Amino acid sequence: MSWKCLRCHTSNDNNKFYCSKCSYRDPEKNEAHYRWKDWKCPKCGTTNGGGFKKCAKCGTRNPT
Ligand SMILES: [Zn+2]
Ligand SMILES: [Zn+2]
Repeated sequence: MSWKCLRCHTSNDNNKFYCSKCSYRDPEKNEAHYRWKDWKCPKCGTTNGGGFKKCAKCGTRNPT
């Protein structure tokens, strides 16, 4: 998988945060890596805050 820079349209590897050409930061990666996202427990369906590694209700580990 790769992502295309919005500024210079260079294709970059998906594991790169920044464009290799103009060093523009991938906005989708910002979202995924810099903000704690809520996650839903696969076992009991409880929604947990992104800062929690385990489900508050049943203790299942965050799969992501
Ligand atoms: Zn670029
Ligand atoms: Zn749970």
